[in-house]
Amino acid sequence: MATTAPAATPTKSLTDLKEEICDIGRRIYAKGFAAGNDGNISYRLGPNEVLCTPTMMSKGFMQPADLCVVDMEGNQLDGVRRRSSEILLHLTILKARPDIRSVVHCHPPHATAFAVAREPIPQCVLPEVEVFLGDIPITKYETPGGQKFADTVKPYVKTANVLILANHGTVSFGETVEKAYWWTEILDAYCRILMLSKDLGRVTYLTKQETKELLDLKSKWGYTDPRLDPGMENCDICANDVFRSSWNATGVDRKAFDAPPPMGAEPGTAVRPTSPGLDQEQLVKIVTEQVCKQLGISAA
Ligand SMILES: [Zn+2]
Repeated sequence: MATTAPAATPTKSLTDLKEEICDIGRRIYAKGFAAGNDGNISYRLGPNEVLCTPTMMSKGFMQPADLCVVDMEGNQLDGVRRRSSEILLHLTILKARPDIRSVVHCHPPHATAFAVAREPIPQCVLPEVEVFLGDIPITKYETPGGQKFADTVKPYVKTANVLILANHGTVSFGETVEKAYWWTEILDAYCRILMLSKDLGRVTYLTKQETKELLDLKSKWGYTDPRLDPGMENCDICANDVFRSSWNATGVDRKAFDAPPPMGAEPGTAVRPTSPGLDQEQLVKIVTEQVCKQLGISAA
């Protein structure tokens, strides 16, 4: 998803950029994505200058004069208020992604519920999510605030534009403040719809063909997706969780939602585990172990 090309020079004045950050702050607060003084927003002004929100202030009530400027190491250069305590998270992302300028971090409740449950976000359900988001990683948990916490985003920062932070919240990034925020809003709406449809008793997955059509649209509109990368041609699009290899290390496990349908399944059929909480991979493992046990050999 990342490109190596640096982001275009900002076309907005500093005054307009400050207004835009305050406006997105109001939207984050109004959506209930940042309780109390939670959340922070940043924008890369130049090679060593980043505009950011202050600490200990509600993001719904900021004025342009409340914003701060820091360098790429987090040292404060300007502003009467103290810069965000999470600035290292923002700077780590800005350093890894020269193509983006803005980072938005907050605690949207539905996406954060997945972060607490450590439940991977099921793919192949909503068209807009397939096109705009793709597979969404959940990072490893670390105590917020330091570089160790900021480093938890590094494995995913080049292949996604929105990440779920384990037991914490979300972080998303883009070329503008609005675009950076956009991914968070789409993700939280998706998580909410997933929870509501699960409550109704059924989550219907798109078929492989329906998902392929969406991925084709995605590349036509200029968005990339790791599922379209070379070497993935023969992979099962829906059941192929791009970030699955990280699940063990991050404590992520599929429990609440069925695995999406595997390649060749009947249209719209989700994999129905025979026991609650088991996906296809776990079932194969259990059956293999049982067969090996009966044959008296090791399953390893
Ligand atoms: Zn936070």
